[in-house]
Parts: sequence; C-alpha cells; structure tokens
Amino acid sequence: CPIRNSFKSGKTVERDTDIFWRKDGSHIPVRYLSTPQVVDGTNVGAVVSFYDISESIKVEKLKEELAHARREASVDALTGLQNRRTFNAVLADLVARDEPFGLIFMDVDHFKNINDQHGHLIGDRVLRQLAKLISARARASDTVTRYGGEEFAILLPKTRLGEIKLVAERMRDGIERLNMRRTDNGESLGRVTASFGIAEYLRQETAYDTVARADEALYKAKSNGRNCIEVAEQSRQTGGRRLSA
Ligand code: GH3
Ligand code: MG
Ligand code: MG
Repeated sequence: CPIRNSFKSGKTVERDTDIFWRKDGSHIPVRYLSTPQVVDGTNVGAVVSFYDISESIKVEKLKEELAHARREASVDALTGLQNRRTFNAVLADLVARDEPFGLIFMDVDHFKNINDQHGHLIGDRVLRQLAKLISARARASDTVTRYGGEEFAILLPKTRLGEIKLVAERMRDGIERLNMRRTDNGESLGRVTASFGIAEYLRQETAYDTVARADEALYKAKSNGRNCIEVAEQSRQTGGRRLSA
C-alpha cells in the first residue's frame, strides 16, 4: 500500500493509476501521491492527494482511436497494401524532393475473365495473392499500393531505370510462375499474368507527368500483347490516358 510505504520509508510515493471507489458503487480513475509527515524526525503520518485522471484517460483513448483511424484510412481493406491516398501522398513527397525515383504501374491481364469464370470471391483471393507476391518482390524502401481495382502502383525512392526494370521483371516473372488453384475444388486458375508500365522521374516534372508517362507505358504493354514491361518515354510530355485522382 503506497500510504504505508511512504509512512515507513519517509519518502513520497506516487501511483500512476488506481481506481477510487465511491460509496454509491461508481468509480473514478485517479493518480495519487502519498507524502510522509515528519515531526521532529519522526514519521507521524502521510498526506494523500488524489487527482482525477478520467479526462486525460479520455484524451489518450481519443489519440489511440485517431491513430487507428489514420492507419485505416491509408490501407486498402482487401489486400492490406497501402491505398491510392497513400500513393498520392508518397508521390507528392518524392516529387517535392526532386531526386530520381521510380514508378511501376501494374495491371492484371484479362482479370475480368477470372471473375467471370470463377466468381468475384475467387477474383478477390487472386488480388490478395498478387499483392503478397509483389510486396515480397519489392524492396523495404518501396511503397507498394493498390491503385484501384486490379491495378497496383509501386514507388521506388532513389532508384534509376535499370533497377526499376529489374524489380518489375521480378514481379512479372513471379506472377507468371504462380500456379494458383481454387481451394474448394483444386481447379487451376490457369495462367495469370500482368502488364507493367515503368518510369523514372524526370527532374522538374510534375507528379501528373510521371503518372501520365508510366500510364502511357502500361497502355503500350497492353497493346504489345500483355505479360510484358514497357518503359516510359524518358522525356517531358504532357497529357495522358487518364487523370490521377
Ligand atoms: P486488361 O488485360 O485489358 O486489363 O483486361 P481486364 O479484364 O483486366 O480489364 P477490365 O478493365 O476490362 O476489367 C477489370 C476487372 O477487374 C473488372 C472488375 O470487375 C474487376 N475488379 C476490379 N476490382 C475488383 C475487386 O476488388 N475484386 C474483384 N474480384 N474484381 C475486381
Ligand atoms: Mg485495369
Ligand atoms: Mg486488367
């Protein structure tokens, strides 16, 4: 008991949290200090001060809830990857630094067929599996995001084109080799592949331009037969197939 301790030791004893019960059965969280009273060198008792800490506990709880909500807002619920919102924030940050970095856009080939043949739930599982694979093949410093639907985007800080290509190739190759089967009937999902558009950021260009160039490259990869990687034009250009929301 802190009161006895302070009485015995002659020192102030503090307890961070405790519960103070009222006669009516209700309770309040408290912090308390027990300070010994010394008269002529003899401990004669202790003064105990209680502080109601219910408000600061509420604030702590709100802080935790806010941190949780922030985490939720940046993560894609299906795959557990970072989401488009995080992509935009990280991209803006990288562009502001104006140092080389890489962008990989990946789009699953003929994904609609997987949904049509096996149903949406299996389609979801495929997306989760692909998310796991590309995360494992990215580097710790890369930001792997679900850009939307069956499209993924990876940001690679301080990375030049040669290395960006290697990372994309590791992903493309890994997906091609995946032999996914349905867990219910063991049926193979057949060959699942993805197409890639990659770009190295050009100094002074806007985030929009980098996205537009990588997107254009992805579009080329699709027209060139899919399951391949196309490198963006490494020169400034404006416009693109779509806007980055
Ligand atoms: P392409 O090779 O040209 O990219 O063909 P595709 O079939 O992959 O492209 P398309 O844009 O025609 O179809 C994309 C499909 O992805 C359609 C949509 O229903 C599906 N899709 C998007 N998000 C999800 C999702 O969260 N779960 C599942 N199961 N399907 C999704
Ligand atoms: Mg698509
Ligand atoms: Mg697709």
